[in-house]
Amino acid sequence: NRRFVLAQRPKGEPDADTLRLETVDIPVPAKGQMLLRNVFLSLDPYMRGRMSDAPSYAPPVALGEVMVGGTVAQVVSSDVEGFAPGDWVVAFGGWQDYALSDGTGVINMGRDPENPSWALGVLGMPGLTAWAGLTQIGQPKAGETLVVAAASGPVGATVGQIGKILGCRVVGIAGGAEKCRHVTDVLGFDECIDYKSEGFAEALKVAVPDGIDIYFENVGGAVFDAVLPLLNARARIPLCGLISQYNATSLPDGPDRMGLLMGHILKKRMTMRGFIVFDDFGHLYPEFAQQMSGWVDEGKIKYREEMIDGLEQAPSAFVGLLRGEAFGKRVIRLAK
Ligand code: NDP
Repeated sequence: NRRFVLAQRPKGEPDADTLRLETVDIPVPAKGQMLLRNVFLSLDPYMRGRMSDAPSYAPPVALGEVMVGGTVAQVVSSDVEGFAPGDWVVAFGGWQDYALSDGTGVINMGRDPENPSWALGVLGMPGLTAWAGLTQIGQPKAGETLVVAAASGPVGATVGQIGKILGCRVVGIAGGAEKCRHVTDVLGFDECIDYKSEGFAEALKVAVPDGIDIYFENVGGAVFDAVLPLLNARARIPLCGLISQYNATSLPDGPDRMGLLMGHILKKRMTMRGFIVFDDFGHLYPEFAQQMSGWVDEGKIKYREEMIDGLEQAPSAFVGLLRGEAFGKRVIRLAK
């Protein structure tokens, strides 16, 4: 059983000393447990938070412990009711080949799911994040303008496509011409603006002639600076993520703009609400799963995955994800 354990808490970007690859015996399930063979490992931005012991909504991974992560796995042997060898499951098996589980929080997908890895993306945690954050906090109405950051990633891509289904004008923000082309031509957003290009703030302004009613925040930083003056009265901001800050070791230099932000919120009577997907919206999972699988089956929601082979690739693929190198949902394939 190969596994990555947390060796050191990173300062800034994780490096070669952050995770350690170990080989240990395949664990032996106790009574009431099952043995899972991890086939796909999800890479997600929140993992950076779990490497850190700064106060957060979830406890950090302890030093020497297996790095946490969502997995799609096959049951090898089972003493858990409702799970039999050969079943495909969605679990939280971590960065390793094999995991034990007592079935808590594990979803059984049956013997022959069509695209098992999609349960880590559009049909799973990132999909629920997009769907719930947009519908519950964004409260979109037809004709409104929705702006979505990190628009080519699994959350952003899904947010924008749901916005189109609900009748919004949807403008994405992404890094680079290739990602922007994908966002408009494949995902069907009305426009996509490259935040790395010169004149980004001006181009965004031109793309939202009626202002912004909903801004789905995934990144923070310079992108939010450009969005803030364009927000309309009673705008809603689902505050989902701040990926531009995850490796930061200090606050940015410059004048304190807290007053500017609070002034905008006050005068425009805006709502900015953070959420943690399963804590706040886990109870909506059945409704989400039904609606989203319907949209995916009908071809109304497109999904792009970036499959990388080999557990040993996971640390560098994760650093690349935080740097913006992923194009679609990054998944590590551990076994064929
Ligand atoms: P993504 O694939 O969208 O995240 C990676 C992308 O973020 C990169 O490809 C890059 O896109 C963008 N990015 C990275 N650095 C920067 C930067 N400095 N400025 C602007 N963009 C940057 O991941 P997900 O779709 O899984 O997650 C999106 C967001 O949602 C994350 O912030 C994540 O933490 C959050 N999230 C929150 C949850 C919650 O419960 N609140 C649950 C799940 C996710 P580009 O190349 O376009 O710059």
